[in-house]
Amino acid sequence: MKQWIALATLAAVSVGAYAQTFPGNKPVAIVVPFSAGGPTDRVARDLAEAMRKQIPGSNFVVENTVGAGGTIGANRVAKAAPNGHTLLLFHIGMASTPALYRKLAYKPMEDFEYLGMVNDVPMTLIGKPQLPANTYRDFENYIRANAGKLNIAHAGLGSASHLCGLLWQTNVQTKEAMTTIPFGGTGPAMTALIGGQVDMMCDQTTNTVGQIEGGRVKAFAVTTAKPLSNHPVLKHYPSLQEMGMKNFNLTIWHGLYAPKGTPAAITKTLNDALKKALKDPEFIKKNEGLGALVVTDNRTDPAEHKKFVAAEMVKIKAAVDAAGKYAD
Ligand code: ASP
Repeated sequence: MKQWIALATLAAVSVGAYAQTFPGNKPVAIVVPFSAGGPTDRVARDLAEAMRKQIPGSNFVVENTVGAGGTIGANRVAKAAPNGHTLLLFHIGMASTPALYRKLAYKPMEDFEYLGMVNDVPMTLIGKPQLPANTYRDFENYIRANAGKLNIAHAGLGSASHLCGLLWQTNVQTKEAMTTIPFGGTGPAMTALIGGQVDMMCDQTTNTVGQIEGGRVKAFAVTTAKPLSNHPVLKHYPSLQEMGMKNFNLTIWHGLYAPKGTPAAITKTLNDALKKALKDPEFIKKNEGLGALVVTDNRTDPAEHKKFVAAEMVKIKAAVDAAGKYAD
Protein backbone atom coordinates (compact mmCIF):
# COMPACT_ATOMS: atom_id res chain seq x y z
CA MET A 1 0.00 0.00 0.00
CA LYS A 2 2.74 2.39 1.11
CA GLN A 3 4.60 1.55 -2.09
CA TRP A 4 1.57 2.53 -4.20
CA ILE A 5 1.21 5.84 -2.40
CA ALA A 6 4.90 6.51 -2.91
CA LEU A 7 4.63 5.67 -6.63
CA ALA A 8 1.52 7.82 -7.05
CA THR A 9 3.23 10.71 -5.28
CA LEU A 10 6.28 10.27 -7.48
CA ALA A 11 4.10 10.28 -10.62
CA ALA A 12 2.27 13.42 -9.48
CA VAL A 13 5.55 15.15 -8.71
CA SER A 14 7.04 14.27 -12.09
CA VAL A 15 3.91 15.43 -13.99
CA GLY A 16 4.05 18.67 -11.98
CA ALA A 17 7.77 19.08 -12.61
CA TYR A 18 7.30 18.32 -16.31
CA ALA A 19 4.52 20.89 -16.55
CA GLN A 20 6.97 23.46 -15.16
CA THR A 21 9.45 22.84 -17.96
CA PHE A 22 6.91 22.29 -20.76
CA PRO A 23 7.47 22.01 -23.68
CA GLY A 24 11.13 21.18 -23.05
CA ASN A 25 12.90 20.26 -26.26
CA LYS A 26 9.96 18.32 -27.73
CA PRO A 27 8.01 19.98 -30.57
CA VAL A 28 4.40 21.09 -30.14
CA ALA A 29 2.35 20.05 -33.17
CA ILE A 30 -0.52 22.31 -34.18
CA VAL A 31 -2.81 20.02 -36.17
CA VAL A 32 -4.66 21.72 -39.03
CA PRO A 33 -7.57 19.54 -40.17
CA PHE A 34 -7.29 20.78 -43.79
CA SER A 35 -4.67 20.74 -46.57
CA ALA A 36 -1.45 22.70 -46.46
CA GLY A 37 -1.46 25.96 -48.38
CA GLY A 38 -5.05 26.87 -47.44
CA PRO A 39 -6.54 29.55 -45.18
CA THR A 40 -6.59 27.62 -41.88
CA ASP A 41 -3.06 26.42 -42.61
CA ARG A 42 -2.00 30.07 -43.17
CA VAL A 43 -3.38 31.11 -39.78
CA ALA A 44 -1.75 28.10 -38.07
CA ARG A 45 1.69 28.78 -39.58
CA ASP A 46 1.61 32.44 -38.56
CA LEU A 47 0.37 31.45 -35.10
CA ALA A 48 3.07 28.78 -34.70
CA GLU A 49 5.69 31.43 -35.38
CA ALA A 50 4.12 33.87 -32.93
CA MET A 51 3.79 31.17 -30.21
CA ARG A 52 7.43 30.11 -30.70
CA LYS A 53 8.52 33.64 -29.87
CA GLN A 54 6.60 33.55 -26.58
CA ILE A 55 8.21 30.39 -25.18
CA PRO A 56 11.97 30.66 -25.71
CA GLY A 57 13.47 27.47 -27.11
CA SER A 58 10.08 26.01 -28.07
CA ASN A 59 9.30 24.53 -31.46
CA PHE A 60 5.69 24.86 -32.62
CA VAL A 61 5.16 23.00 -35.91
CA VAL A 62 2.12 22.61 -38.16
CA GLU A 63 0.81 19.18 -39.19
CA ASN A 64 -2.03 18.71 -41.69
CA THR A 65 -4.44 15.85 -41.00
CA VAL A 66 -6.98 16.10 -43.78
CA GLY A 67 -10.48 14.76 -44.45
CA ALA A 68 -14.22 14.75 -43.78
CA GLY A 69 -14.65 18.50 -43.38
CA GLY A 70 -11.97 18.73 -40.68
CA THR A 71 -13.39 15.98 -38.47
CA ILE A 72 -10.50 13.53 -39.04
CA GLY A 73 -7.91 16.02 -37.78
CA ALA A 74 -10.11 17.05 -34.85
CA ASN A 75 -10.60 13.39 -33.90
CA ARG A 76 -6.84 12.80 -34.04
CA VAL A 77 -6.30 15.52 -31.43
CA ALA A 78 -9.26 14.38 -29.30
CA LYS A 79 -7.56 10.96 -29.01
CA ALA A 80 -3.95 12.22 -28.68
CA ALA A 81 -1.92 11.95 -25.47
CA PRO A 82 -2.93 14.86 -23.22
CA ASN A 83 0.58 16.22 -22.78
CA GLY A 84 0.40 19.55 -24.61
CA HIS A 85 2.42 18.31 -27.60
CA THR A 86 -0.57 17.84 -29.94
CA LEU A 87 -2.93 20.79 -30.34
CA LEU A 88 -5.78 21.51 -32.74
CA LEU A 89 -6.40 24.70 -34.65
CA PHE A 90 -9.97 24.53 -35.90
CA HIS A 91 -12.46 27.07 -37.19
CA ILE A 92 -16.25 27.38 -37.08
CA GLY A 93 -16.23 23.63 -37.87
CA MET A 94 -15.70 23.03 -34.14
CA ALA A 95 -19.31 24.23 -33.75
CA SER A 96 -20.85 23.20 -37.08
CA THR A 97 -19.64 19.59 -37.39
CA PRO A 98 -21.71 18.25 -34.44
CA ALA A 99 -24.83 19.57 -36.19
CA LEU A 100 -23.83 18.29 -39.63
CA TYR A 101 -22.38 14.92 -38.63
CA ARG A 102 -24.84 13.08 -36.44
CA LYS A 103 -22.28 10.34 -35.72
CA LEU A 104 -19.21 12.33 -34.82
CA ALA A 105 -16.29 10.29 -33.40
CA TYR A 106 -15.49 12.95 -30.79
CA LYS A 107 -17.40 15.34 -28.54
CA PRO A 108 -16.33 18.96 -29.13
CA MET A 109 -17.46 20.08 -25.66
CA GLU A 110 -16.09 17.13 -23.68
CA ASP A 111 -12.98 15.87 -25.44
CA PHE A 112 -10.91 19.08 -25.48
CA GLU A 113 -9.32 21.62 -23.19
CA TYR A 114 -10.18 24.99 -24.71
CA LEU A 115 -7.09 27.20 -24.96
CA GLY A 116 -8.71 30.30 -26.47
CA MET A 117 -9.86 31.99 -29.62
CA VAL A 118 -7.44 33.33 -32.23
CA ASN A 119 -9.15 35.52 -34.83
CA ASP A 120 -12.24 36.42 -36.85
CA VAL A 121 -11.99 35.91 -40.62
CA PRO A 122 -14.49 37.05 -43.27
CA MET A 123 -15.16 35.02 -46.39
CA THR A 124 -15.28 36.05 -50.04
CA LEU A 125 -17.23 34.79 -53.01
CA ILE A 126 -14.78 34.21 -55.84
CA GLY A 127 -14.84 32.78 -59.35
CA LYS A 128 -12.42 31.40 -61.93
CA PRO A 129 -10.66 34.09 -63.97
CA GLN A 130 -12.36 32.95 -67.20
CA LEU A 131 -15.87 33.87 -65.96
CA PRO A 132 -17.42 36.62 -68.12
CA ALA A 133 -18.85 38.47 -65.08
CA ASN A 134 -17.02 41.36 -63.42
CA THR A 135 -19.55 42.56 -60.84
CA TYR A 136 -21.70 40.71 -58.33
CA ARG A 137 -24.87 41.46 -60.32
CA ASP A 138 -23.33 40.10 -63.54
CA PHE A 139 -22.12 37.07 -61.62
CA GLU A 140 -25.54 36.27 -60.16
CA ASN A 141 -27.16 36.70 -63.59
CA TYR A 142 -24.57 34.40 -65.11
CA ILE A 143 -25.20 31.76 -62.42
CA ARG A 144 -28.96 31.95 -63.02
CA ALA A 145 -28.55 31.75 -66.79
CA ASN A 146 -26.30 28.69 -66.44
CA ALA A 147 -28.13 26.92 -63.61
CA GLY A 148 -27.26 23.24 -63.44
CA LYS A 149 -24.13 23.61 -65.59
CA LEU A 150 -21.74 25.11 -63.05
CA ASN A 151 -19.79 23.73 -60.13
CA ILE A 152 -18.70 25.05 -56.74
CA ALA A 153 -15.64 23.86 -54.81
CA HIS A 154 -15.46 23.31 -51.06
CA ALA A 155 -13.23 21.78 -48.39
CA GLY A 156 -15.41 18.76 -47.58
CA LEU A 157 -18.86 18.26 -46.10
CA GLY A 158 -19.29 20.47 -43.07
CA SER A 159 -16.40 22.80 -43.91
CA ALA A 160 -16.76 26.58 -43.82
CA SER A 161 -16.66 26.83 -47.62
CA HIS A 162 -19.38 24.16 -47.84
CA LEU A 163 -21.56 26.00 -45.30
CA CYS A 164 -21.02 29.37 -47.00
CA GLY A 165 -21.71 27.94 -50.48
CA LEU A 166 -24.92 26.28 -49.26
CA LEU A 167 -26.20 29.46 -47.62
CA TRP A 168 -25.41 31.48 -50.72
CA GLN A 169 -27.07 28.99 -53.09
CA THR A 170 -30.17 28.90 -50.88
CA ASN A 171 -30.36 32.69 -51.23
CA VAL A 172 -29.83 32.73 -54.99
CA GLN A 173 -32.53 30.08 -55.48
CA THR A 174 -31.68 28.83 -58.96
CA LYS A 175 -33.93 26.09 -60.29
CA GLU A 176 -31.08 23.64 -60.58
CA ALA A 177 -28.32 23.29 -58.01
CA MET A 178 -24.63 23.61 -58.74
CA THR A 179 -22.45 20.50 -58.63
CA THR A 180 -20.30 20.56 -55.49
CA ILE A 181 -16.66 19.49 -55.79
CA PRO A 182 -15.03 18.55 -52.45
CA PHE A 183 -11.30 18.96 -51.77
CA GLY A 184 -9.19 18.23 -48.67
CA GLY A 185 -9.01 21.98 -48.09
CA THR A 186 -9.47 25.15 -50.06
CA GLY A 187 -5.71 25.32 -50.74
CA PRO A 188 -5.97 22.69 -53.52
CA ALA A 189 -9.44 24.00 -54.43
CA MET A 190 -7.87 27.39 -55.11
CA THR A 191 -5.36 25.78 -57.51
CA ALA A 192 -8.27 24.18 -59.39
CA LEU A 193 -10.13 27.50 -59.48
CA ILE A 194 -7.13 29.39 -60.82
CA GLY A 195 -6.71 26.67 -63.45
CA GLY A 196 -10.39 26.97 -64.42
CA GLN A 197 -11.27 23.37 -63.43
CA VAL A 198 -13.94 24.64 -61.03
CA ASP A 199 -16.20 27.67 -61.49
CA MET A 200 -16.48 29.26 -58.08
CA MET A 201 -15.95 28.96 -54.34
CA CYS A 202 -16.58 30.74 -51.06
CA ASP A 203 -13.40 30.99 -49.00
CA GLN A 204 -11.73 32.76 -46.10
CA THR A 205 -9.89 35.96 -46.93
CA THR A 206 -6.70 34.40 -45.48
CA ASN A 207 -6.60 32.37 -48.72
CA THR A 208 -8.17 34.76 -51.20
CA VAL A 209 -6.64 38.23 -50.71
CA GLY A 210 -3.34 37.43 -52.45
CA GLN A 211 -5.06 35.69 -55.37
CA ILE A 212 -7.58 38.52 -55.83
CA GLU A 213 -4.81 41.10 -55.68
CA GLY A 214 -2.74 39.16 -58.20
CA GLY A 215 -5.73 38.95 -60.57
CA ARG A 216 -5.64 35.14 -60.54
CA VAL A 217 -9.30 34.85 -59.48
CA LYS A 218 -12.29 37.17 -59.72
CA ALA A 219 -13.93 38.38 -56.49
CA PHE A 220 -17.59 39.34 -56.36
CA ALA A 221 -18.62 39.93 -52.74
CA VAL A 222 -17.70 39.63 -49.07
CA THR A 223 -19.82 37.65 -46.61
CA THR A 224 -19.71 40.11 -43.69
CA ALA A 225 -22.81 42.25 -43.08
CA LYS A 226 -20.93 45.41 -44.09
CA PRO A 227 -18.28 45.84 -46.77
CA LEU A 228 -14.66 45.77 -45.59
CA SER A 229 -13.98 49.42 -46.40
CA ASN A 230 -10.68 49.58 -44.49
CA HIS A 231 -8.99 46.79 -46.39
CA PRO A 232 -6.97 47.88 -49.45
CA VAL A 233 -8.01 44.89 -51.59
CA LEU A 234 -11.37 43.83 -50.14
CA LYS A 235 -12.85 47.35 -49.99
CA HIS A 236 -13.70 47.08 -53.69
CA TYR A 237 -16.35 44.40 -53.16
CA PRO A 238 -19.92 44.73 -51.85
CA SER A 239 -21.32 42.68 -48.99
CA LEU A 240 -23.95 40.09 -49.88
CA GLN A 241 -26.37 42.02 -47.63
CA GLU A 242 -25.91 45.09 -49.80
CA MET A 243 -26.66 42.89 -52.79
CA GLY A 244 -30.05 42.01 -51.30
CA MET A 245 -29.32 38.89 -49.21
CA LYS A 246 -30.97 40.31 -46.11
CA ASN A 247 -29.53 38.29 -43.28
CA PHE A 248 -26.32 37.09 -44.88
CA ASN A 249 -23.56 37.60 -42.32
CA LEU A 250 -20.85 34.97 -42.10
CA THR A 251 -17.53 35.36 -40.32
CA ILE A 252 -15.29 32.40 -39.61
CA TRP A 253 -13.30 32.24 -36.38
CA HIS A 254 -10.37 30.07 -35.29
CA GLY A 255 -9.69 28.58 -31.85
CA LEU A 256 -6.90 26.52 -30.28
CA TYR A 257 -7.56 23.28 -28.37
CA ALA A 258 -5.67 20.54 -26.49
CA PRO A 259 -6.84 16.99 -25.68
CA LYS A 260 -8.98 16.67 -22.56
CA GLY A 261 -6.91 15.89 -19.48
CA THR A 262 -3.91 18.03 -20.43
CA PRO A 263 -2.50 19.20 -17.06
CA ALA A 264 -3.69 22.65 -15.96
CA ALA A 265 -0.11 23.95 -15.66
CA ILE A 266 0.44 23.11 -19.35
CA THR A 267 -2.85 24.60 -20.58
CA LYS A 268 -2.00 27.75 -18.59
CA THR A 269 1.43 27.97 -20.24
CA LEU A 270 -0.22 27.55 -23.64
CA ASN A 271 -3.00 30.07 -22.96
CA ASP A 272 -0.47 32.61 -21.64
CA ALA A 273 1.63 32.12 -24.78
CA LEU A 274 -1.46 32.42 -26.99
CA LYS A 275 -2.53 35.66 -25.33
CA LYS A 276 0.95 37.12 -25.81
CA ALA A 277 1.07 35.87 -29.42
CA LEU A 278 -2.20 37.66 -30.13
CA LYS A 279 -0.53 40.91 -29.07
CA ASP A 280 2.51 40.36 -31.30
CA PRO A 281 2.46 43.32 -33.75
CA GLU A 282 3.84 41.13 -36.54
CA PHE A 283 1.06 38.54 -36.10
CA ILE A 284 -1.57 41.31 -35.96
CA LYS A 285 -0.15 42.91 -39.13
CA LYS A 286 -0.13 39.60 -41.03
CA ASN A 287 -3.75 38.95 -40.05
CA GLU A 288 -4.92 42.43 -40.97
CA GLY A 289 -3.17 42.18 -44.33
CA LEU A 290 -5.23 39.07 -45.02
CA GLY A 291 -8.52 40.66 -43.92
CA ALA A 292 -8.59 38.88 -40.53
CA LEU A 293 -8.96 40.47 -37.08
CA VAL A 294 -6.99 39.09 -34.14
CA VAL A 295 -9.17 38.62 -31.06
CA THR A 296 -8.49 41.20 -28.36
CA ASP A 297 -11.46 40.74 -26.02
CA ASN A 298 -12.11 38.12 -23.33
CA ARG A 299 -12.82 35.44 -25.95
CA THR A 300 -9.10 34.61 -25.57
CA ASP A 301 -10.00 33.20 -22.13
CA PRO A 302 -10.58 29.43 -22.37
CA ALA A 303 -13.90 29.55 -20.47
CA GLU A 304 -15.21 32.44 -22.57
CA HIS A 305 -14.20 30.73 -25.79
CA LYS A 306 -15.97 27.55 -24.70
CA LYS A 307 -19.13 29.56 -23.95
CA PHE A 308 -18.85 31.22 -27.35
CA VAL A 309 -18.50 27.86 -29.16
CA ALA A 310 -21.48 26.45 -27.22
CA ALA A 311 -23.63 29.40 -28.35
CA GLU A 312 -22.45 29.00 -31.96
CA MET A 313 -23.38 25.28 -31.79
CA VAL A 314 -26.95 26.08 -30.77
CA LYS A 315 -27.29 28.66 -33.56
CA ILE A 316 -25.84 26.40 -36.26
CA LYS A 317 -27.77 23.30 -35.13
CA ALA A 318 -31.06 25.20 -35.40
CA ALA A 319 -30.18 26.31 -38.95
CA VAL A 320 -29.00 22.83 -40.00
CA ASP A 321 -32.04 21.08 -38.49
CA ALA A 322 -34.33 23.60 -40.20
CA ALA A 323 -32.65 22.88 -43.55
CA GLY A 324 -32.68 19.14 -42.80
CA LYS A 325 -29.33 18.71 -44.60
CA TYR A 326 -26.71 16.53 -42.94
CA ALA A 327 -23.22 15.42 -43.93
CA ASP A 328 -23.69 11.75 -42.97
N1 ASP B 1 -11.39 27.07 -46.09
C1 ASP B 1 -11.57 25.72 -45.66
C2 ASP B 1 -12.99 25.52 -45.21
O1 ASP B 1 -13.77 25.72 -46.05
C3 ASP B 1 -10.59 25.17 -44.75
C4 ASP B 1 -9.17 25.23 -45.22
O2 ASP B 1 -8.77 24.67 -46.25
O3 ASP B 1 -8.44 25.83 -44.48
O4 ASP B 1 -13.33 25.13 -44.13
